[in-house]
Amino acid sequence: MTPTTTNAPTGAPPMDSVSTGLLNLLRDHDPEIASVLADEAARQAQTIELIASENHVSPAVMHTMGSCMTNKYAEGYPGKRYYSGCVNHDRAEQLAIDRACKLFNCTFANVQAHSGANANLAVYYALLNPGDTILSVVLSDGGHLTHGSPVSISGKWLNPVHYPLVYDESRDDYGYIDYDAVESMAKEHKPKIIMCGYSAYPRIIDFKRFRTIADSVGATLVADIAHIAGLCAGGAHPSPFPHAHIVTTTTHKTLRGPRGGLIMTNDEELAKQIDRAVFPGTQGGPLMHIISAKAVAFGEALQPAFKTYAKQIVTNAKTLADELMHRGHHLMSNGTDNHLMLMDLRKFDPELTGKDAALWLEQAGIIVNKNTVAREQRSPFKTSGIRLGTPAATTRGFTEKHMKQIGGWIDQVLRSGGDESIHKSIAGEVIELCRAYPLPH
Ligand SMILES: *Cc1c(COP(=O)(O)O)cnc(C)c1O
Repeated sequence: MTPTTTNAPTGAPPMDSVSTGLLNLLRDHDPEIASVLADEAARQAQTIELIASENHVSPAVMHTMGSCMTNKYAEGYPGKRYYSGCVNHDRAEQLAIDRACKLFNCTFANVQAHSGANANLAVYYALLNPGDTILSVVLSDGGHLTHGSPVSISGKWLNPVHYPLVYDESRDDYGYIDYDAVESMAKEHKPKIIMCGYSAYPRIIDFKRFRTIADSVGATLVADIAHIAGLCAGGAHPSPFPHAHIVTTTTHKTLRGPRGGLIMTNDEELAKQIDRAVFPGTQGGPLMHIISAKAVAFGEALQPAFKTYAKQIVTNAKTLADELMHRGHHLMSNGTDNHLMLMDLRKFDPELTGKDAALWLEQAGIIVNKNTVAREQRSPFKTSGIRLGTPAATTRGFTEKHMKQIGGWIDQVLRSGGDESIHKSIAGEVIELCRAYPLPH
């Protein structure tokens, strides 16, 4: 490893985990929280973040979140607010809307959804009545809680039916969406909404095929691109438009913005229903500091450098996937097209749970999450897999050679039998690499 003083990131520069100015302020004002923030800054600086849904935002995004824009009630929408004094908030929200539309090539955007879950809830509230049917992927196969899990309002108040993946390992499309099954289930169940877009799916989504199926049964196609939004925006994954009727997303995963949600459409009537469903339907006052930071993040994603970043995320993921498979590990669908991969531990070591693997890797300074794999037999607290993703590591400036090195470390940890001395020694190497690619202040 060659130490370097620049972090040579692709795309916008990575952020400081916490600014010195803020720490100095907090040390006097609230030493307890100051110490939490300082420790978290150190943790982020010294570990390799491979959680597929996380990222490091730019200093500009970070500091806009901590700005005076938070001190305002702005219920309503630009030009139609319930409170006085919203002139600057109108400007910020309109910029966020215009940039989102430009970025995703659509005509309407609601930037007020507090999160990805809230975005989906608002779409359901806009289009469905209790008991209506939605067709989606089940949580344990890579879907999201909000796509009809029994522990979510979406599962309790709606009637979810789930389309399968291809589970047959002898097939070339093993681990892919089973599009033929989507079609036959749509015809059988006549869902009002078909959801596509997932939390743990490593392959490209065929939005066009989904739209054809949706049209054949009169369903609304909702693409939840929470994970892949940055790849879509950066041209590293096909766009859900013009195929999806509605697109929902988070803004904080591959898109590298503040934590938040976003809903888009090209249909004026749907746009009105969505706006009403967000406010006053399911939310109160918008988080104007977050919306301002969304505008900043969308502005960054519109820069040419973001395309380079998005492409590098995928290159890094493919490199890491190849390295792991080369070393005898098994990935769902045998690889990846996007920013993430799902390691199926069952074939590698039937005794090893995702829980233990994630714990061991954390001891080695590599942060991943345990994840269910297709036809999971273990509970979501144990699982038989781990999910790995490259958005945050790519922001840090890591490229192919680092992915190979990280793949080697992961392999060593998974073969360690839990030997903490091995984990500790890798953690030392991880810190050294992280030092060469700092998250700058
Ligand atoms: C992350 C995610 C969400 C929810 O986002 P939150 O901001 O955590 O509410 C929704 N859908 C999918 C597919 C996701 O991966």
